[in-house]
Amino acid sequence: MTTMAARIRKEPPAGIGRALPAPGPDGQKGGFMGQIFIDGSWLDKDNAKISVFDHGLLYGDGIFEGIRAYNGRVFRLREHMTRLWSSARAIELALPYSPEEMERIILEALQRAGAPDNYVRVVITRGKGDLGLDRRKCKKPTVIVIAEMIELYSNSVYEEGIRLITSSLRRVPLDSLPPMVKSLNYLNNILARSEATRAGAQEAILLNHQGLVAECSGDNIFLVREGRCMTPPVSAGILPGITRGAVIEIARDQLKLPFAEADCTLYDLYSAEEVFLTGTGAEVIGVTEIDGRKIGSGRTGHWTREIQKLHRKMTRSTGVPFGEFAASRI
Ligand code: PMP
Repeated sequence: MTTMAARIRKEPPAGIGRALPAPGPDGQKGGFMGQIFIDGSWLDKDNAKISVFDHGLLYGDGIFEGIRAYNGRVFRLREHMTRLWSSARAIELALPYSPEEMERIILEALQRAGAPDNYVRVVITRGKGDLGLDRRKCKKPTVIVIAEMIELYSNSVYEEGIRLITSSLRRVPLDSLPPMVKSLNYLNNILARSEATRAGAQEAILLNHQGLVAECSGDNIFLVREGRCMTPPVSAGILPGITRGAVIEIARDQLKLPFAEADCTLYDLYSAEEVFLTGTGAEVIGVTEIDGRKIGSGRTGHWTREIQKLHRKMTRSTGVPFGEFAASRI
């Protein structure tokens, strides 16, 4: 093979498969102290920098994944790698590592971060180019892995649920950048989320160009209506969430709730008994108000609570172990 990916892959990622070196006196000897991986180097927050010519920064040309670890185990790591590789293929980005190498980098980042519960952000950009759009000028993708906890919803929000509004912005249509790609282009989502914030709500629903419900700015959406659980299909123009997949298994296989991936309208949401959101950061969160209308009883619903409980159990007891945490706890 003479592709760029093959050339780059000849060099194993630095630090991978080796024992972690002892910290140097300055805490940065050989760049081995940090928990942030950039193109083979381990760096701390202050030193983790990329070029201003990187097309990830200049054009949002790249992809990412957000991954959670609980109790020293990474939840659904293989599924995240599968989605990352699908995103890469969709935007014609040749990844310089194999999925197994990527997994080892992620596990090492978590081990270096040293916390049993954590969050990992994987970012792969087109790399350094010039100021033009031509991606052929970008000779090598930039690979970034950051292990650091993100800000999460408070416990009370899981009890009380959240408020949504419908955004004036539509989800990117299927015949543009496919919404299934977890790309670095989040401006549409960010603008939708800021509409929610301005209206005193926590999340925004984006409809697709047919006026059907797609998803929220950073979460998938589910409803329970007349005892049936529903979520929009991927063909409605959504990101196929990893949490969405786990929650479908919980609702359909564990709780035996009648379940369908089906087109949903705002009417379906407004008249539902329960609405909830799923996402790696949000986990499973109840929705109590949409566009000023009370949903169901106005509290987190019965099935939402059941799904929350089983999702919590699933995330805390399964996954790929890292460090000593998993061994000592399970
Ligand atoms: N939809 C969008 C637009 C997202 O950004 C995300 C991730 N935050 C999700 C859905 C949920 O996906 P996952 O469960 O894989 O985190």
